[in-house]
Amino acid sequence: MNRELYGKLVFELSRQGRRGYRLPQSHISSADLTDGKGEKAPEIPSGLLREQPLALPECDELTVVRHYNNMSTNNFGVDTGFYPLGSCTMKYNPKINEEVAAHPGFASLHPATPAFASQGCLRLYRSLERALSEIGGMAEFTLNPFAGAHGELTGLMVIRAYHDSRGDTRRRKVIVPDSAHGTNPASAAVAGLEVVEVKSLPDGTVDVEALRPLLDDNVAAMMMTNPNTLGIFEHNIPAIARMVHEAGGLMYYDGANLNPMLGVARPGDMGFDVMHINLHKTFSTPHGGGGPGSGPVGVRAGLERFLPAPRVVELHDGTLALEYAPDALGSISATLGNFAVQARALAYILSLGSEGLMEAGALATLNANYVKEALKGDYLLPIEGLCKHEFVFDGLADKSTGVTTLHVAKRLLDHGYHAPTIYFPLLFHESLMIEPTETESKETLDEFVAVMRDIAREARENPEIVISAPHNTPISHPDDTEAALNPCLTFIETKN
Ligand SMILES: *Cc1c(COP(=O)(O)O)cnc(C)c1O
Repeated sequence: MNRELYGKLVFELSRQGRRGYRLPQSHISSADLTDGKGEKAPEIPSGLLREQPLALPECDELTVVRHYNNMSTNNFGVDTGFYPLGSCTMKYNPKINEEVAAHPGFASLHPATPAFASQGCLRLYRSLERALSEIGGMAEFTLNPFAGAHGELTGLMVIRAYHDSRGDTRRRKVIVPDSAHGTNPASAAVAGLEVVEVKSLPDGTVDVEALRPLLDDNVAAMMMTNPNTLGIFEHNIPAIARMVHEAGGLMYYDGANLNPMLGVARPGDMGFDVMHINLHKTFSTPHGGGGPGSGPVGVRAGLERFLPAPRVVELHDGTLALEYAPDALGSISATLGNFAVQARALAYILSLGSEGLMEAGALATLNANYVKEALKGDYLLPIEGLCKHEFVFDGLADKSTGVTTLHVAKRLLDHGYHAPTIYFPLLFHESLMIEPTETESKETLDEFVAVMRDIAREARENPEIVISAPHNTPISHPDDTEAALNPCLTFIETKN
């Protein structure tokens, strides 16, 4: 690796006095400055002035251009390669979405523009809200939350507000399956609710018999992901919904990965009362590294009034306005959420149309099953049968090689693939979770299958090459624990 090109920080490339561009000397002194009324401008109070010049890197233009261009090619994204990161739905994001989101009428609008002067943006918001209500089988949606987990928190706050509005303030228990995404129990805890886990059966679905004794008049909600994080459809869902409703609780649907359900089944029809969708997964916004995201929350009829303020409402004359209703939760995000993500989602929905969305869901399921069936001899498939958009292996089939899921994931990097999700869900020791998504061609899937088989063969014949991987990346074996616990996020100058 050429550390000059790839490894240095822009601060390390800095040389004192070096410039990319020089501003002409100003001939105005601060004493000459006036305010708008022709009066002498006030001095900046000395307490607010910097004592030392700001330590900015000093580089010529070419160094800066090379630095950022080289750094950008060190990044991995859906636009550069196959990204089968289970549960994250790393599908290709059509570029037309970017064009729509970057439209000057959207991108240049000030966030505090009054409703009468931002009718186009509010129309986009309302149109997407209606489309998601149709897709989810819900009465209304709010698009305000910034992420999936933020949507969960908002949805649970709606549920809490509903129970409280009926004087049912004991209901604080949230039942979460052991296969759930980690954000589910975390969101419930942040919402001030108590998390109770329900076990899964060996086939990966919720154990209805284990659920029964947990249902009492303290239950606020049951959170479910369907298809669950193992990619398996919860076929007992009508019975579970009936049981939870009979106990007075509400059903919460984690729709982060709605892909396989698009146009096929609707959470509202399955008995769910509140749900969220990750626009940055199912509805096509580039994501990873922490954002940008959007986690709209839908509710069945009767719960709309608790949705967070402001709400976009249509007045009798057809204009759109912001509403701050008395029962609404307060504001949970800056005004109306992550608008550019909403714009991409609506562009995606309208360009695919209902037929295109249904096809996307079916293809996501087909691709996942294709890869699963092709690899299940070399990798241990703990749960047989049809999966939806993703599936989980429990490491290599041959457990005698010493090669773990972590080694396989790192070896994949040598072949130019992003690693699958590993060690999640927690149900298996060596979880390796693969989600190909619908946008990958059969050729890409075949190449991936061939590489995965090769790695399994290497593990049997020459395990050391897998265990010591990756061999071709700029960094090979960082200390994962140290990096997680003590991340070094600022430049510390080392004199050498
Ligand atoms: C991604 C995901 C979430 C959390 O979404 P964020 O936007 O990362 O907060 C929740 N549940 C499931 C099933 C997910 O896959």
